[in-house]
Amino acid sequence: MYKAFLIKYGEIGLKGNNRHLFEDALVSSVARALKKTDGDFVVTKENGRIYATAREEFDYDEVVGILQKVFGIVWICPVIQIEDNGVEDLSNKLVEYIDAAYKEKNFTFKVDARRARKNFPLNSMEINGEMGHVLLEAFPGLKVDVHNPDVLISIEIRKQINIYSKEIPGPGGMPSGVSGSAMLLLSGGIDSPVAGYMISKRGVRIHATYFHAPPYTSERAKQKVVDLAKTVSEYAGPISLNVIDFTAIQLEIYKSCPHDELTIIMRRIMMRIAEAIAKKNGCMGLVTGESIGQVASQTMHGLYCTNAVCEMPVYRPLIGFDKQEIIDVAQRIGTYETSIQPFEDCCTIFVAKHPVTKPKLDIIERDEKKLPDNIEDMINEAIETAEVIVCE
Ligand code: ATP
Ligand code: MG
Repeated sequence: MYKAFLIKYGEIGLKGNNRHLFEDALVSSVARALKKTDGDFVVTKENGRIYATAREEFDYDEVVGILQKVFGIVWICPVIQIEDNGVEDLSNKLVEYIDAAYKEKNFTFKVDARRARKNFPLNSMEINGEMGHVLLEAFPGLKVDVHNPDVLISIEIRKQINIYSKEIPGPGGMPSGVSGSAMLLLSGGIDSPVAGYMISKRGVRIHATYFHAPPYTSERAKQKVVDLAKTVSEYAGPISLNVIDFTAIQLEIYKSCPHDELTIIMRRIMMRIAEAIAKKNGCMGLVTGESIGQVASQTMHGLYCTNAVCEMPVYRPLIGFDKQEIIDVAQRIGTYETSIQPFEDCCTIFVAKHPVTKPKLDIIERDEKKLPDNIEDMINEAIETAEVIVCE
């Protein structure tokens, strides 16, 4: 029955002169997301509103599901749009709408009319009264409740007339790309996909880097990361995933450095490589799935040592989350099932039995000097030979 959706946004309305940039970004995100559907949608903005109007038949549940993943959307309202053919026509269309939209006609309601065009013969109050009356006559099971109605029926008299009464929550946040871009260190674990989701919710476009260690890590492990990037991209938009062949570097660290420092030294080199690729892509920061105290390398001391190699800000959206809180988000956004597939990632193979929990930066820096002289060449080669996979 619906051919269009009225899309309401919140926060982005507040941005003063930048408002149109935010709106345009949201229009693009909505249009891009809806390309995946059959509806052949036209997305337009009009007086602080965004409309997505279908020119073809579409699957309602699929479209709503897709819109619920577009950051920046606060409410999704399936809307009936009619031409202004006078009060009687509006009454008829309203009755038809309620008849089709609600199986059980035994709810309380309130009509909330807004007249943005003053040449309509009734003012807002009069529309409320008249349409309330029409509905009570048509459906004897309905009751008016102006304070706490089950159904709020909005009628907006604009160029056309909008009728809607359902508001489906969107994900909130800000539209993709309005806040610049960042490089996500994406592993196959539970945390980093959630971190990517969280930062992109704030309008940050994400790129990703994954460190792969074949043959110690399998193709399946890499595929898992690609799958995770695809799931995150349903919210974040296309993600270009840089796959770094990390085996040679990792073996060198394993050979040359004290084993209790492996994770910290490995993480520092990962950060350097990710930062170099981030710079090439115009990113303004790095993003990880770290959370204080979760594992040995994520103590305050560990994070201090890792952070010390980075010039860019490192964003850690999960820093204060408990594991269960992270799992809850992962389940909600659909990454959890993929994350728990049992394929080794490169860290789990090279970890020490007893990693340092309180590494000291000067000691780590001293021990890194034990790496062979050509380690810088190896790092550059890893950067230059990155495989880029566009995940969408
Ligand atoms: P995750 O679930 O995100 O893997 P984790 O709890 O397993 O997190 P660690 O393995 O200590 O934590 O990794 C900390 C962070 O370092 C990860 O959240 C991720 O951002 C980054 N990271 C770890 N391993 C890799 C990898 N192989 N490729 C890319 N980034 C990685
Ligand atoms: Mg991990």
